Amino acid sequence: MMKDIKELKELFGERYFENFPLRQYNTFHTGGNADIAIFPQTDLEVADSLRILRAEQIPFCIIGNGSNLLISDEGVEGVVIILSGLKGILTEGTELHVKSGSLLREIAYESMRQSLTGFEFASGIPGSVGGAIVMNAGAYGSEMKDVIIRVKVLDCTGNIRTRENYECEFSYRESAYQTNGDTILSAVIELRQGDEELIRERMNELNEQRRLKQPLDYPSAGSTFKRPKGFFAAKLIEDSGLKGCRVGGAMVSEKHAGFIINYDNATSRDVSNLIDIVRETVFRKFGVELSAEVKLIGRNYSER
Ligand code: FAD
Repeated sequence: MMKDIKELKELFGERYFENFPLRQYNTFHTGGNADIAIFPQTDLEVADSLRILRAEQIPFCIIGNGSNLLISDEGVEGVVIILSGLKGILTEGTELHVKSGSLLREIAYESMRQSLTGFEFASGIPGSVGGAIVMNAGAYGSEMKDVIIRVKVLDCTGNIRTRENYECEFSYRESAYQTNGDTILSAVIELRQGDEELIRERMNELNEQRRLKQPLDYPSAGSTFKRPKGFFAAKLIEDSGLKGCRVGGAMVSEKHAGFIINYDNATSRDVSNLIDIVRETVFRKFGVELSAEVKLIGRNYSER
């Protein structure tokens, strides 16, 4: 195993780190260190690292922009592959060819510059396109499902594959990528010809709505819970009297009860304990089971 970790070290050079703090790589700004972190910049580097890790059965996980993650305070075993350097946006007519680390915001602004409409909904979601495809991220009535044509992945045997939209099995905040072991390398997005000024106005309007309604001054991972069928998570939480409820430094936002925020130097344990309290309270009061939208990664989280 050491020999092949050495191979990884040689492959990544200055982009290979041991005992690497992940706090700055997730928007909760909590959690411990990765045993090892690497920052690929090309598809080939992703493929080579996965080949080494799989051959040696070294555990690994992927971080896009870390905006939907809760990372264990005990850190992450093995290798964390951080894809924020896998960037690139190329426009061809109404199609955008995007590498998985490209941010939704960057894609939205590029679409606007090219007078392409249909991506405004995503301009305020702070994720990478890879993470957004995994989560089928969405807002204001649209989701990734509506704009993705196809996705290029490395499958769990290390082969490059193209998955068409229907093969992604998109549904509300779900996709095949949450379970199938694919690593997303890039995607093709299709938009429609529009008017740059109208696109700008729509993006500004949606982002103003976010600023008014969401606690963007505090670290969080956005909506902590998925919307349960027939209900709104934030309303159930608010009606349970949980606004402002705190565990350590974690708090149910006063501004938007659907958000748990890192109010004051929270640990990930504070956040996960608060998640449990919210779920139990809402279930007791309304008989509705909330499930977390946020993904938990790292030591001691596998059972959750
Ligand atoms: P990460 O958090 O890095 O990862 C999410 C999951 O995807 C993890 O399981 C990770 O292992 C996996 N993953 C990431 N990249 C890849 C890849 N290339 N290949 C395979 N697996 C990968 N979400 C919404 O849907 N709508 C919103 O309106 C919204 N608003 C938000 C507002 C705020 C302030 C914040 C902090 C978050 C918000 N989110 C929202 C949540 C989050 O931004 C989205 O889920 C986003 O799409 C996650 O992308 P990411 O790159 O940060 O993914």
